[in-house]
Amino acid sequence: MPLLVMKFGGTSVGDLARIKNAALKVQREVERGYDVIVIVSAMSGKTNELVGWVEQTSPMFDAREYDAVVSSGENVTAGLMALTLQEMDVPARSWQGWQVPIQTTSAHSAARFVDIPRDNIDAKFAEGFKVAVVAGFQGVSPEGRITTLGRGGSDTTAVAFAAAFGAERCDIYTDVDGIYTTDPRISSKARKLDKIAFEEMLELASLGAKVLQTRSVELAMRYKVRLRVLSSFEDTDETSGTIVCDEEEIMESKVVSGVAYSRDEAKMTLVTIEDRPGIAAAIFGPLAEAGVNVDMIVQNISERDYDDHPGAVTDMTFSCPVNQIPRARKAMEDARASGIINYDDLAVDTDVAKVSVVGIGMRSHAGVAATMFKALAAENINIKVIATSEIKISVLIDRKYMELAVQALHDAFELEKSA
Ligand code: ADP
Ligand code: ASP
Ligand code: MG
Repeated sequence: MPLLVMKFGGTSVGDLARIKNAALKVQREVERGYDVIVIVSAMSGKTNELVGWVEQTSPMFDAREYDAVVSSGENVTAGLMALTLQEMDVPARSWQGWQVPIQTTSAHSAARFVDIPRDNIDAKFAEGFKVAVVAGFQGVSPEGRITTLGRGGSDTTAVAFAAAFGAERCDIYTDVDGIYTTDPRISSKARKLDKIAFEEMLELASLGAKVLQTRSVELAMRYKVRLRVLSSFEDTDETSGTIVCDEEEIMESKVVSGVAYSRDEAKMTLVTIEDRPGIAAAIFGPLAEAGVNVDMIVQNISERDYDDHPGAVTDMTFSCPVNQIPRARKAMEDARASGIINYDDLAVDTDVAKVSVVGIGMRSHAGVAATMFKALAAENINIKVIATSEIKISVLIDRKYMELAVQALHDAFELEKSA
C-alpha cells in the first residue's frame, strides 16, 4: 500500500471540531487508497500551559519530569483523533511514543531519534487498520523514560516516520497555507513560495521561522523526504502548499529568499576579562555544561591596559535564548567564584531580537550586507551584534524594532515580487 504521513499542528487540532476537520482530510486520503500515519501535536496552547506548570512548580526543574509532564498534551490528541476516525468508520489506532517504541537519546527536552522500529505499526496495518495515529514530540530513552524533542518537535516526528516508513510524502498541515518569504503574521506583503530549497528552509528555521522545526528539515534533507507545508483550514489537493526540495528543482533565483526573526533573544556581556589564550574556552565551556545554547559571539579587540588589570583586557558578548539567562548567569558566577574566569561586571540585555536574511544566492552575490544595513539605518534601527555565514546575515536589535526591521528588509530585497 502507498503510505502518507500527515501531521497536524496545535491549531489544527485545537478543539474537537478541528480534530474532526483534520480527520476528514485523513479519511479522504484513505479513500484514495493510502495507508496513513497521522502525527498530532497537543491542542494549541496546551504545551505552553504544561511548561508553565512545570516552571511554577520547580524553576530549575528535573528535565525527566519536565518531559513526563509536557509530553502529555500529545497523548490526548492522539487518542481523540483515533476515536474521531473510528466514528467515521476509518479503522484507526493511536500510539504513544513508547508503544511504537520511538527510541531516542536520553537528552531530555532536546532528545534525538535513534530508531523507529516499524514492526508494531506494520502489524496493525496488516490486520486491516488504515491509520496509525502517533503522538508527536515524544519518544522513550534507553533508560525507559519519556523524552521530548524540543519545541515544535512534532514536525520532526512526522519527517522521521516518513523516512522510516518510506512514505510517498510528508504533509505538514498548519494554520498558514505554506511557507512565505517571511512570517505572514508580521508582514502583509509576505509572498507564498511554491518551493523552497532545503538549505534555505534549514537556515530560516534555525533563525526562528517556526513553521518547521529545524531538525525536521535536516532529516528531510538527509533522507530525501518529500516535505510539504499546507493549510488544514482550506480545501487542499496535490498542488497546494509549499514543497521543500533540492535546490536544483527550483527555478526562482533571488539573492535573498526570506527574512526570519527570533523574538526571545538576550545578550550578556562579560565586562573586562583578561585577553589571553584559553579565555574563550574558560567562558564557553561552563556555559555549554550548563546547557546554554550560545548563538552569536563577539569579542572586542583589546586595547585597554588598566593598572588593576595587568596585561590586555577585553569584553566578551554572547547571545542566547532569553529564558536561559538565569542558567548563563549562574554558570558565569560559579566560574568566577571558582577562579576559572574573572570579570568586572555581567551586563545583561533581555530586550533584544534577532532578524536575519537568508538566501542561497548570497553565495555568489556581494552587497547583501550593505543593502541590509542601509535599510535598517533608514529606519534608525541600531545594530547591536552582527553574524554572517555563507547564506545568511543576522543582526541583533532592540526588540521593539523587530517587526519594523522585518518589514524594512522585506521591502529592501523586494521579496513581494517573484524573480
Ligand atoms: P503548528 O502548531 O501547526 O506546528 P506553528 O505555530 O509551529 O504551527 O508554525 C506555523 C506558524 O509559523 C505560522 O502561523 C506563522 O506565524 C509562522 N511562520 C514564521 N515564519 C513563517 C514563514 N516564513 N512562512 C510561514 N509561516 C511562518
Ligand atoms: N506541542 C509541542 C510544542 O508546542 C510540539 C509541537 O507542537 O510540535 O512545542
Ligand atoms: Mg510547529
